[in-house]
Amino acid sequence: MDLRNGFDISRYIRSIPDYPKKGIIFRDITTLLANPHGLRAAVDELVWPFLKTDIDYVIGIEARGFILGGAVAHELGKGFVPIRKKGKLPWKVIGRDYELEYGVDRIEVHADAIGEGDRVLLVDDLIATGGTADAAIELIRESGAELIAAAFVIDLPDLGGAQKLREKGVKVHTLVEFEGE
Ligand code: AMP
Repeated sequence: MDLRNGFDISRYIRSIPDYPKKGIIFRDITTLLANPHGLRAAVDELVWPFLKTDIDYVIGIEARGFILGGAVAHELGKGFVPIRKKGKLPWKVIGRDYELEYGVDRIEVHADAIGEGDRVLLVDDLIATGGTADAAIELIRESGAELIAAAFVIDLPDLGGAQKLREKGVKVHTLVEFEGE
């Protein structure tokens, strides 16, 4: 079966209105992950543009990016590197602050995990405003590694994150789009 043409993964994504607050539609991928066909299709679709690309590491953003990024790394036969929320990684880290709607958050990666000459594929479940991915990309670049592309299951185009990354010269791969926030 050609999963790219024959399988609609969007129907496995559960949409929850007004979560975590009024006006936001939460796109819940736990229903996609729990379905064996959905999980396989999502991971295969994330991977296929990069099957012949020279990549050293897949890097995933906590927490849903770990599930998908780990599977993508396994399928590509590459290693996985986690980007975690502040204070979770046990070794020396480099970090980036990024703006949330209310306040600031910080993501970190081990300082020795990736470096000069490494070619990296970034994976997360969803891109909205792009703030999280942008901070991750800055971390990757600060480490000296080269960002090959950023891959997401879900794009919320109305929030402009994927477009913003593309304007910065990042190759962005997304599988499904939903309107609104
Ligand atoms: P952003 O930094 O605005 O691109 O937001 C991306 C991060 O927030 C991702 O790690 C998503 O998991 C999460 N996120 C943002 N908006 C949603 C939404 N509507 N449904 C589910 N997760 C979301």
